[in-house]
Amino acid sequence: MIPEKLIQELKAIAGPEQVLTAAEDRWTYAFDATDLDHMPDAVVFPGSAAEISRILVLANAHRFPVVPRGAGTGRSGGAVPIQGGVVLVLTRLNRILEINTKDLVAVVEPGVILGRLKAAVEEKGLYYPPDPASAEFCTIGGNVAECAGGAVAVQYGVTRDYVLGLEVVLPTGEIIEAGTRTMKGVVGYDLTRLFLGSEGTLGVITRITLRLVAKPVARQTLAAAFKTLQAAGEAVSLILASGLAPTALEFLDQVTLGCVREMLPFKVPAGAGALLLIAVDGHPRDVEERAARIARFCEEQCARPVLRAKTPAEAEELWKARKVVSPSLKKVKPQKVSEDVVVPLGAIPELIAALAKISRRRGLIIPCYGHAGDGNIHVNILYDRNLAAEREAVGATVEDIFVLVRRLQGTLSGEHGIGLTKAPYLGLELSPGAIALQKRLKAAFDPNNIMNPGKVFPAT
Ligand SMILES: Cc1cc2nc3c(=O)[nH]c(=O)nc-3n(C[C@H](O)[C@H](O)[C@H](O)COP(=O)(O)OP(=O)(O)OC[C@H]3O[C@@H](n4cnc5c(N)ncnc54)[C@H](O)[C@@H]3O)c2cc1C
Repeated sequence: MIPEKLIQELKAIAGPEQVLTAAEDRWTYAFDATDLDHMPDAVVFPGSAAEISRILVLANAHRFPVVPRGAGTGRSGGAVPIQGGVVLVLTRLNRILEINTKDLVAVVEPGVILGRLKAAVEEKGLYYPPDPASAEFCTIGGNVAECAGGAVAVQYGVTRDYVLGLEVVLPTGEIIEAGTRTMKGVVGYDLTRLFLGSEGTLGVITRITLRLVAKPVARQTLAAAFKTLQAAGEAVSLILASGLAPTALEFLDQVTLGCVREMLPFKVPAGAGALLLIAVDGHPRDVEERAARIARFCEEQCARPVLRAKTPAEAEELWKARKVVSPSLKKVKPQKVSEDVVVPLGAIPELIAALAKISRRRGLIIPCYGHAGDGNIHVNILYDRNLAAEREAVGATVEDIFVLVRRLQGTLSGEHGIGLTKAPYLGLELSPGAIALQKRLKAAFDPNNIMNPGKVFPAT
């Protein structure tokens, strides 16, 4: 436990009302969107980079852990204070400092909710593309720390592709600027990218300069129901090879479709084995033509029905259904482990077929959905923790899946990060030399290992 004397020092830095120590308050910040939890000793809501700097200096002097936290929607345990210490909640740093329509940049604090930022940017006629399903409740700081993706990554890329510059408080308390406000810049090492996906282990991000793009003039959304997942997979391959450049190309398998069927603005045939949701951005005539050709590819694979959203509201309904797939899986089983593996596009059918085998062998339901357009598949292991056989099969199932993904030359995580949940498997992907170099980097930033300890690297 952090001694009372240090709690008083934290209160002197951030203000007494910004430091929580009651058990029920600390409990609220003990977990994220995984099933993991650990009580922090204190929860602090800093109001500026200068306060964060003083807190980190204190943490170094007294060697207590500091765990940055945005909205706690992370899916790999990154914000769980596994070694106790202080949870540093960034939600008071929530100002949109600038949206500049000439420079095409936005400057924001990390606690801004992504949906609020996207809306503010669109009001000015511009567009900030990354759109994770959690957009309405995650923070932009969390997005940078995890390098969040989402459905439109197929066309627009992920958070990494939009971060130009950062202000970061290093674990030792120094405040540094990395990157630029310009579209290009190659001065020195690319420290900005190093912080992208660093999961709160290298510093606290306190200001972010983002690149914006023009708002798409038109967007069409299509939905196509297929008899089998294989037929949907064939349609995906045809669409991707066609040069029609979809903005989003998402799939739902039979189980995930079943969970959101009632939310869809049309009736899906009872025997449907998969649904594709597709978006196309561009100029109206071009969008019309590309959408028509994509619909034909789906029909050639016997998709019925193939629908185009008639209004933006109908399109919105379709994407809303897609965004609640993950929580709706709790209708099937009370617990789930969500993996977000990525495989080369050509390996998606083999991945899906092999997952079905693992599911049968381990006796667990493993529904899949996600970003078919970039090979980032959300693989969900469903279980009931009250059933010993299911509970005990989960660990081996995760390992089977990761071994499979590596055999297919894929990667363990496309957007959720390593955090706590995947740390034991780091060696499946990175060589001992690469892990050792990353550890040396971590030590250069954080010599006393106070920033989010226990994350990313396997316990030794
Ligand atoms: C229903 C649901 C759907 C989701 N869909 C997607 C999706 O489509 N795509 C996707 O990519 N993710 C998705 N996620 C995962 C999650 O929303 C993202 O990882 C998001 O970026 C986390 O943001 P957060 O503010 O909740 O971060 P938190 O969970 O609070 O923190 C995540 C990590 O970032 C670190 N961190 C947070 N803020 C800072 C900061 N200012 N400085 C340094 N480190 C910091 C934390 O220490 C932690 O390691 C989903 C989650 C849920 C629950």
